[in-house]
Amino acid sequence: MGEETLHTQVAVIGGGPGGYSAAFRAADLGLDVALINAEKRLGGVCLLRGCIPSKVYLEITELINQARQAADWGIDFGEPEIDLNAFRKHKEEVVGRLVKGLEHLCEQRNIELIHGRAIFEESQRVHLEGADLDAVEFEHAILATGSRPVALKGVEFKQNGRIMDSESALDLPEVPERLLVVGGGYIGLEMASVYASLGSRVTIVELTEGLLPGMDRELVKPLQRKGEQYFEAMYFNTSVEEFEESENEVRVQLDGEVDQPEQNFDRVLIAVGRQPNTDGIGLENTSVELDEHGFVRVDEQRRTGDEHIYAVGDITGEPMLAHKAMHEGKVAAEAIAGQPSAYDVRAVPAVVYTDPQLAWAGLSEEQAEEQGRPVEIGRFPWRASGRALAKGSPEGLTKLIFDSETNRLLGMGIVGRGAETMISEGALAIELGAVAEDLALTIHPHPTLSETESEAAEAFLGSATHILQRKKGSTVSDGKTTET
Ligand code: NAD
Repeated sequence: MGEETLHTQVAVIGGGPGGYSAAFRAADLGLDVALINAEKRLGGVCLLRGCIPSKVYLEITELINQARQAADWGIDFGEPEIDLNAFRKHKEEVVGRLVKGLEHLCEQRNIELIHGRAIFEESQRVHLEGADLDAVEFEHAILATGSRPVALKGVEFKQNGRIMDSESALDLPEVPERLLVVGGGYIGLEMASVYASLGSRVTIVELTEGLLPGMDRELVKPLQRKGEQYFEAMYFNTSVEEFEESENEVRVQLDGEVDQPEQNFDRVLIAVGRQPNTDGIGLENTSVELDEHGFVRVDEQRRTGDEHIYAVGDITGEPMLAHKAMHEGKVAAEAIAGQPSAYDVRAVPAVVYTDPQLAWAGLSEEQAEEQGRPVEIGRFPWRASGRALAKGSPEGLTKLIFDSETNRLLGMGIVGRGAETMISEGALAIELGAVAEDLALTIHPHPTLSETESEAAEAFLGSATHILQRKKGSTVSDGKTTET
């Protein structure tokens, strides 16, 4: 029997947000597209084992936390009764519905969907493992193979074992009484929140001196303070030296700022970062170049060192976020179609879905200073917001980073409930090159959390209503900044 090879204009490798966005855009631009996905279901880590399932769980976490808070306001719902099977089923239903939607969109766009693992034989040909076809030849490929959790030295992830990575933790095998989370980053904190709200006593071990290293400490502080209530313990500047898994528990040896170095847990979750899936796919048979961390080097059109191959998403490096991957996917597809598209962004918003949530876009105060910008901050503490108090989130803060010479918005950071939807205003304002007056003179509905964004801009200008913070030198009136 002869070898069966499919010929196409564009082969997209990987069916996560970066890959399917690239495939859809390429097809919409009239290109002939094959989408090769190693897994049976489309959606990648984000839809199958990441963003979406975790958000289904975090929705319940929010509900439980708010119900508990309501007891202080005179409404006591009592302790929740949790049916884990039903909860998991609900998650599967949400995921299943979205997977079906993606498959349907592929069909409608006449995209050839291939289940199998693609391995490059040369720049314009991959052979397939586990597929009905043998190979695909193409004019261009878009590589979108994503990332996987970083393993920790000496740790073995056994199937159904007590030591879990983020993906097995999302299967919610049980609600362990004592859970250790190694890593106080995005994933560690989101999963710690889910398990804590379901009733686990959660301990977090973080290698650096605080949660979410690298992020604005002023924004992280309220989250860290809340963590002291939610979690059994948080150990900073600490690492786990040894794990010993037995039938009923995991014994760990901690090294760092801990009162008790040897501790036992029912389960352990390891979330210490992610690494790109660039190995084992035959890139050595192409001219694709990797950096020292294994990420693919790309130009602004997401073209790799190989003129026939583009790369998008987690494999191109931080931030490893689905929305950045989707944007890159479209850029690559448009570039292949001959359009002058480029990845030219000022702000990639990011959200950590904890309680309170953390969100930011653009430059942080520290980054702006490092770039030598004249920086001035506009802050609005949520304790002065009626909506935030009604919502039970007085710890929130909206922080705007301005260039003090031009009044241009450089960055926005928010901590507080509902930050996830608010941050888009910041991203849009930064992309549009908005100045403080644009935010301040845009009427925001009252009472909403979004008002904290215009009031933070007013605080910078010296015209805030609900806080007293006068800036020397200027007030806003009739759309002009006037000297006083
Ligand atoms: P991360 O890089 O966000 O956090 C890892 C944390 O582990 C860091 O704080 C690090 O200091 C700590 N750490 C490293 N080694 C350690 C050790 N030996 N002991 C204790 N702590 C250690 O990584 P993550 O949480 O695994 O997330 C991975 C990626 O997934 C991130 O890059 C993020 O972009 C993405 N993600 C995003 C979201 C979201 O957008 N809401 C959610 C989850 C994940």
